[in-house]
Amino acid sequence: MIQRQIDVSLGDRSYPVYFGSELTASFAPTCQQHGIPRRIVIVTDTNIARHYLAPLENNLKHFDFDVSSVVIPPGENQKSLQRAHVLYTALLKLGVGRKSAIVALGGGVIGDLAGFIAATYQRGVTLIQVPTTLLSQVDSSVGGKVAVNHPLGKNMIGAFYQPKFVWVDAETLRTLPAREIVCGLGEVLKYGVVFDAEFFAYLEANLDNILKLEPASVLHVQARCCELKAHVVSEDEREQGLRAVLNYGHTVGHALEAAGHYRILKHGEAVLLGMIAESFIAREMGLLPPDVHERIVQTLRRLPVKLARSSFSSSRVLKAMAFDKKSVEGKARFILPIRLGEVQVVDEVDVPLIQSSLRYVFGLAGKGSQ
Ligand code: ADP
Ligand code: ZN
Repeated sequence: MIQRQIDVSLGDRSYPVYFGSELTASFAPTCQQHGIPRRIVIVTDTNIARHYLAPLENNLKHFDFDVSSVVIPPGENQKSLQRAHVLYTALLKLGVGRKSAIVALGGGVIGDLAGFIAATYQRGVTLIQVPTTLLSQVDSSVGGKVAVNHPLGKNMIGAFYQPKFVWVDAETLRTLPAREIVCGLGEVLKYGVVFDAEFFAYLEANLDNILKLEPASVLHVQARCCELKAHVVSEDEREQGLRAVLNYGHTVGHALEAAGHYRILKHGEAVLLGMIAESFIAREMGLLPPDVHERIVQTLRRLPVKLARSSFSSSRVLKAMAFDKKSVEGKARFILPIRLGEVQVVDEVDVPLIQSSLRYVFGLAGKGSQ
């Protein structure tokens, strides 16, 4: 049943995000309504396939779609040009032509990789996003960013390529490991800090229910985040300005991810720690009142992230920051909170202050509450 719909307005490339439960039952009819080509290829990974591939395939076949599936191993290292090449070969061998659709069934890895394939295979085929992690449901599946990684940097090869629609089934979260829920909540709290003080207060009050996947609060969270993201994307599809505010927590976060060679911290965890560090920077620069900083940090610390201090040196984290593709002329750009619901872009942050913010994060982690 579709419980909510949020539209992303991008002129003739506008599309809806559908929210609900037991969505697999109505997936195929929705494809028909959208005039999706009969030839569909589902791209997913083994973890997700185990739970959701057969029901989705059956639903599509029942409605006379011609369905094939490509199942790959899980993991961030699949987001590579090598894997993309293997997928192009599979599509060619299956005889998939231009008039076909790719369904990205999975988390951010599948969404980015399958989206990249859809954007490039035969100069572009129809894309449908079916995100199955909290992080992809509230963030990455909406907005059309698709990419693969290069050994020298994450998401270095990609495009902006919008799906025809996005399909969010909260029930898929029931099989998701708890660590992945925490990752998603990192980005969720980001939306509260960056755009919406009232939503932040809701999250403060309901975090325990959300962690337990209580349906009404999960739906509220998914829908509010998508609404905010949809607004940002329609104002600034290609990240020329407004969209950059979504990078709060990401300057330090990306650097922490890279410094751990993408093995120690997951993206959402790194962003969580990044938000703590960047809120510290904002407070020290006199941009963020100390009581608001305290509120942000106390809430973020309710989400468990394991971090061994010895895994990181601050020089390695600083070096990684210079490689960030969002840095302007080698200088890291920060999105700093100035109050709940408002951020400011800051290019001038002194290196010693960045170092102190890292010590602050590692210090909190050392106390065992992270
Ligand atoms: P993200 O959306 O955070 O980028 P990934 O795509 O890296 O997440 O997926 C995280 C992990 O969770 C992967 O191992 C993936 O196979 C697995 N996964 C994704 N969705 C589900 C689900 N609904 N149930 C069980 N495992 C899932
Ligand atoms: Zn992110």
